[in-house]
Amino acid sequence: MTNNTVLRLAIQRKGRLSEDSLLLIKESGIKFSSGTGKLKSKARNFPMEFLFLRDDDIPDYVADGVADIGIVGENVAIEKGKNIDVVKKLGFSKCRLSLAIPKEIEYTGVGYFEGASIATSYPKILQDYLDKKAVSADIHEISGSVEIAPSIGLASGVCDIVSSGSTLLSNGLKEVETILNSEAIIIGNQRMAEEKKIILDKLLFRIESVQKGKNNKYILLNAPNDKIEEIIELLPGMRSPTVVPLADKKWSSIHSVVNEDEFWEVIEKLRDAGAEGILVVPIEKMIV
Ligand code: ATP
Ligand code: MG
Repeated sequence: MTNNTVLRLAIQRKGRLSEDSLLLIKESGIKFSSGTGKLKSKARNFPMEFLFLRDDDIPDYVADGVADIGIVGENVAIEKGKNIDVVKKLGFSKCRLSLAIPKEIEYTGVGYFEGASIATSYPKILQDYLDKKAVSADIHEISGSVEIAPSIGLASGVCDIVSSGSTLLSNGLKEVETILNSEAIIIGNQRMAEEKKIILDKLLFRIESVQKGKNNKYILLNAPNDKIEEIIELLPGMRSPTVVPLADKKWSSIHSVVNEDEFWEVIEKLRDAGAEGILVVPIEKMIV
């Protein structure tokens, strides 16, 4: 690798993706300064550079190779993205793209939209959806504040991003169809140089270690020696649980790693099996 090869990552400058994108980089042990107003920054301890952009522009920059990779919502990647690869799903900024109509109107099914006007910032995704449903509607593309369109007489429905639904509700709208479920993803240039791919693999390895750490907990518990076998049966562990004798010869301490999804179930079973003094500790990084 030549010494000056760097991987360029485009992230949203200011918005709903920014904080978690920066956190992901930070938790991957990559240090850089992101002072306000800065549009570009270089990592101090990893061959990476950062571009801070509007999220709408990121797919094009990545497709053109101005940036090698970028972090955007799937909604933006699908709407704007052509000639880009989806490299990895990141699990944050979860939301959905939905159709909504004034809440006092009775909704009879997607046929409601036949001949209707729909305001959206996602004309391409909406058109694809309507085509699939064989509905023809008039799409009004607007770039923001889509949810006020019905109340000012601009459209009879909207297609917009929803997370809790409270923005829709406060604008007198109700969600009637979900078009797309979205989360933040890493997108990548399709013709990335081999040297950059090597850096990308290192970055992905770090990100995955952080994600696995978050999905798992380290647990420590005390058990009477005659219960150890039963308790070990309940604990998966990375290879097998650690068993350490306590000063009290009849007792041992057992350490293991438990997945977040099965966590409460496992804890209850452990307690029933005679475990005491159960401690649960977060894992910063996990390499398996
Ligand atoms: P920019 O100025 O960069 O164009 P924006 O206003 O288009 O920003 P944001 O509102 O910051 O975009 O949202 C960025 C992305 O975050 C969206 O494209 C979507 O993927 C996701 N997102 C939007 N709203 C929510 C929400 N309420 N909860 C979680 N994620 C969301
Ligand atoms: Mg945007």
